[in-house]
Amino acid sequence: MPVSLIPDRLYGRYTDLTPRLLADQGIRLLLCDLDYTLAPRSMERPDETLRAWLDVCRDAGVTVMILSNNRSTRRVETFCGELDIRYVGHAGKPSPKGYRQAMAVAGEMPEHTAMLGDKLLTDVLGAKRAGIAALMVEPLGGPVGIWNHVLHALQSPFKWIAKRRCKKNYEQIS
Ligand SMILES: [Mg+2]
Repeated sequence: MPVSLIPDRLYGRYTDLTPRLLADQGIRLLLCDLDYTLAPRSMERPDETLRAWLDVCRDAGVTVMILSNNRSTRRVETFCGELDIRYVGHAGKPSPKGYRQAMAVAGEMPEHTAMLGDKLLTDVLGAKRAGIAALMVEPLGGPVGIWNHVLHALQSPFKWIAKRRCKKNYEQIS
C-alpha cells in the first residue's frame, strides 16, 4: 500500500510544539530526530533552550525520546546523557523498526505517539509506516551543504500541501 509523504503538522521549530498542542493531538510519547530538529549540526551539546523545552514537556507528562540515524552514536549519547532522556540510535529510519522499538521501551501505543523531524524521506516516511503522527519542522540552523539545500527544496511541495491541509482543517473547526 502506498504511504503518504505529507506531514500531519508543520512547525517552524521544535519550541513551537507545546504540551498543549501535543495534548490536543493525544500525544504522550514524542520521538524526536536530533540533527537539524533539536540541534543544529554544529551544536555539540544541548543548550538551555532545549533543556527548558524538555522540562516543560516532562512536567506535562510527555515522554521525549531521540530516534536518530546519526552515524556517530557518541553525539546521540552525549545529548541524551546530558538531557537524561532515552534514545534509539542507528534507528534505520524510514524503517518502522526503530519507531516500534521506541514505543516498546516507553510502553506507548501508536495512536499516542508522534515523530518530530526535519526530513520527509526518513522522519516523516518512517512515522507514516509506523502508523504514528508525523510532525515536521524547518531545519534548525538552516540546511547546511548543497545536498541539504537540494533536499529541502525538494521537500517544499509536500510541506506546502501540508500547510494548506492544516489551514483548511483549522478553518473547518473555527
Ligand atoms: Mg534531521
